[in-house]
Amino acid sequence: MQLLDGKAISAEIKSEIKQDVAEWVKSGGKKPHLAAILVGADGASQTYVASKIRSCEEIGFTSTLLKFDADITEDELLEAVNSLNNDEDVDGFIVQLPLPKHISENRIMEAVDYRKDVDGFHPINVGRMCKGLPAYLSATPFGIIEMLKRASIETAGKHCVVIGRSQIVGLPMSILMQRNEYPGNCTVTITHSRTKNLQEICKSADILIVALGRPEFVTPDYVKEGAVVIDVGITRVEDSSKKSGFAIKGDVNFAQVAPVSSYITPVPGGVGLMTICGLLTNTLKATKKEIYA
Ligand code: NAD
Repeated sequence: MQLLDGKAISAEIKSEIKQDVAEWVKSGGKKPHLAAILVGADGASQTYVASKIRSCEEIGFTSTLLKFDADITEDELLEAVNSLNNDEDVDGFIVQLPLPKHISENRIMEAVDYRKDVDGFHPINVGRMCKGLPAYLSATPFGIIEMLKRASIETAGKHCVVIGRSQIVGLPMSILMQRNEYPGNCTVTITHSRTKNLQEICKSADILIVALGRPEFVTPDYVKEGAVVIDVGITRVEDSSKKSGFAIKGDVNFAQVAPVSSYITPVPGGVGLMTICGLLTNTLKATKKEIYA
């Protein structure tokens, strides 16, 4: 078994971006500026956003955080989105999900200027990705693709099973794994909460990508000997032995599955860190206008 070490790979990517930014700014380019909108006081969302902002500082981006109370109205949030759309200094921005229930996430995502949509959630970016056109790829799937690439994992002709069909992970992941380039060219099966024989389907996967949000759901009964296992799940579970009172768990039972797999991502220290790299890469592309003029 080999560990797909998100910590090491993301450190390498961040240092490449840092160097790229320094050269770009030295040659007269604008310093990249990423903004984030955070609504409410969800602990996990606060941690993710703080980590994104910290990463911006590390690599030489400007960052802005706009915080709103959970009772903000949809119209007020749309106004905030519009102000970032119109702010010429902001190259890209994200609206941290999930949003409070009274706000339509789809409506907010569609209001983001697709040219600044560095999370890759806008229908124009999703549609262009499906057609194989240049687009901001959704940050988590992008991070996973980059991880497979940097570990030189063979994907052509492999059976890739994705657990979960969410718009931000499972669905775009399945599209990217079947496209006609590397990493890709897999035969993809996408599974979800209504899938029958999930265990049997997963057991036939050469590459198993797990994104369902149920801690330690995947045990060796779901995994073929020698499979590549990518664990996207991040769930906080109570743990009185930790200072914070919780531990972070993935969707895969790492201790049991690691000995069966050929490659596996840990949680924490795996896909989460790669997601941030996806976001930073997209922001740099936005600054350089590499995808949209
Ligand atoms: P989601 O709740 O939107 O989707 C979950 C999916 O899993 C659904 O499509 C559902 O049909 C499927 N599912 C649920 N129960 C199932 C079951 N028993 N069998 C098969 N399929 C089942 O979740 P999401 O936003 O895709 O996130 C999934 C997990 O990934 C969460 O733990 C989330 O915190 C984590 N996540 C991590 C990152 C990261 O950067 N590492 C990014 C996004 C999400």
